[in-house]
Amino acid sequence: MLARLFEGFGPRDAVDIAVVALVITWLLRIMRETRAFQLLRGLAVLLLAAFLARRFALGTTVWLLNSLLVFWAIALIIVLQPELRRLIASLGEQTFLRSFFPQSAAVFHEIAQAAHLMTQQGWGGLIVVERETSLAGFADSGTRVNADIKAELLASVFTPGSPLHDGATIVREGRMFAAACTLPLSESKVQAQVLGMRHRAALGITEETDALVVVVSEEQKKMALAMKGQLTPPLDRETLEELLTLHSRTGGGLP
Ligand code: ATP
Ligand code: MG
Repeated sequence: MLARLFEGFGPRDAVDIAVVALVITWLLRIMRETRAFQLLRGLAVLLLAAFLARRFALGTTVWLLNSLLVFWAIALIIVLQPELRRLIASLGEQTFLRSFFPQSAAVFHEIAQAAHLMTQQGWGGLIVVERETSLAGFADSGTRVNADIKAELLASVFTPGSPLHDGATIVREGRMFAAACTLPLSESKVQAQVLGMRHRAALGITEETDALVVVVSEEQKKMALAMKGQLTPPLDRETLEELLTLHSRTGGGLP
């Protein structure tokens, strides 16, 4: 009976079973630390394994790997969903037309004035100015406002206790576009030890996009500008306005 079962069992089947066992062990091990990167790496290994299995005609292994590939692709889409949404949104909105309508100097005057008012009041805040890269995906995490920019209105959003004070306000095409938005935190470990959440969020969005971010520190009662993953020292109102105006036109880094 047992002999019948193993009839026709050759070295190829032994390899086939060994591979399946290895794949299962390996899967269990990496499931402990699943994240997008691991999933991507996993996908690459699976593709390679599937290719090799097909090459050596290991029937069961091919079947297992094919099933896993489908599962993997779906898992990847689910895990990467926020990134994909952002990518699709920015593809749709990367209009070159926007560069013909630069945000006016008056807008940067109002933003710098708002930040100044906030430092005087001791309120913290984050004002994100969109440039080329669309921030629509981040605006979705907050509340759409779509109002004209006035320093007093912008500052009053950040009044402690106001429903929209928590998070960032996004400025698009010279208008207050959305408020109370959540930004990605900077991954930099060095800065994470010294910076609070607000400053890490300011750096985080500038690492991912070309946005300009005005950070008003509640603790230090000072304002600074972040772009391209860098933060200026504390700025006065005039310098902040100058830098905003300058960098809204050019794509350069901080001086
Ligand atoms: P401050 O100098 O003003 O104290 P900080 O860098 O020390 O700033 P926290 O004290 O941790 O930062 O600031 C907390 C505030 O930062 C929260 O109340 C919230 O409004 C804002 N914040 C925290 N995380 C995010 C985020 N991911 N996106 C947007 N805003 C955030
Ligand atoms: Mg703090």
